[in-house]
Amino acid sequence: MKPTRPLLLDQIPEEWDLGAGPDYRRKQVAEWLFAKRANSIAEMTNLPASLRQQLESAYDFTALKLTKLQGSHDTTRKLLWELRTGDYIESVLIPASLDLFGERSDRFTLCVSTQVGCAYGCKFCASGLEGWKRNLTAGEIVAQIIETERVTKTRINNLVFMGMGEPLANYANLMQALQIINASWGVGIGARHITISTSGLAPQIRELADQPLQIRLALSLHGATDDVRQQIMPVNRKYPLAELLDACADYQEKKRKMMTLEYILIEGVNDSIEQATLLAKHARRLHAKVNLIPYNTVEGLEWRRPTDFVIDRFEAVLHAAKVTATVRREKGHDIDAACGQLRLKQLKAEASG
Ligand code: SAH
Ligand code: SF4
Repeated sequence: MKPTRPLLLDQIPEEWDLGAGPDYRRKQVAEWLFAKRANSIAEMTNLPASLRQQLESAYDFTALKLTKLQGSHDTTRKLLWELRTGDYIESVLIPASLDLFGERSDRFTLCVSTQVGCAYGCKFCASGLEGWKRNLTAGEIVAQIIETERVTKTRINNLVFMGMGEPLANYANLMQALQIINASWGVGIGARHITISTSGLAPQIRELADQPLQIRLALSLHGATDDVRQQIMPVNRKYPLAELLDACADYQEKKRKMMTLEYILIEGVNDSIEQATLLAKHARRLHAKVNLIPYNTVEGLEWRRPTDFVIDRFEAVLHAAKVTATVRREKGHDIDAACGQLRLKQLKAEASG
């Protein structure tokens, strides 16, 4: 079910319905939302009472309620949110690693969700297990940044769309959210610090390539041939590798940005030397770097991560082919950092009483 009323955060200032209020009020409302981080419309005290009433009657203010916060300041923190519709989503806050002097910098990356559940059903992913429920609105995407900053008292300067859901399947709301996130009157995070991760929706990748924003793209590849990819990613039947890689090459040519190929290593499925060799070929063609992610156990799924020997061997093949590759041994594993897992636990807990 969709929310019945829009959030103030769903719209850009020109779209707000101010009733009879004059246009210069738009700037004040934006200041309350983004610069002063107001907690309610009632707090916007330099607006006339009639305008505050108008806004209260036309808009919802609060998008998210914090249900659970796991982790501490110098680790990965995971936030479970309840939406107005009673659905759950999650965001993950990742601190920058220690700098040379052993001081922790104040750089934080937030991983945000774009949908409740996911329709794409990748066989290794917790987000897809319960199917797709609904798209997040633009404001529900933006609110994850604002509420995380509020709750954790941090400033987020890097954003990755790698949470629950397929961002490019919620294209219009994603674009609206990006406009608000990128704007100087809004959240103010530069496009260069924003990465969209996709399971490979070729037409939307081409659409994004024609967009002016200089957003970074990460492709969840997870298999270097149609055969292998198809086993774990049903979306590959719709957009096979040849078509998908052509769309990515188009993106790379138009944006001149370094792409990332994400590759979850699953024992006996996609961890062979042959797959590594072909992956290197794709990476070189796209001038992409590769992130190798050892499979993270999901309750109810039978897959396993390869041994360290096999992981190192896979990485070595990429390095020998002069491809930049990094193994992501996530610190967040112990708190279920792969997105979708905290929500799954919550749903199971509610189902059992
Ligand atoms: N739908 C988009 C973005 C969200 S998926 C996409 O697929 O790219 C979020 C990321 O979580 C994916 O890139 C995938 O690499 C990672 N992921 C999902 N399940 C995982 C698991 N079991 N172990 C490790 N990473 C996982
Ligand atoms: Fe959806 Fe991405 Fe999970 Fe696949 S990996 S089910 S596309 S969220």
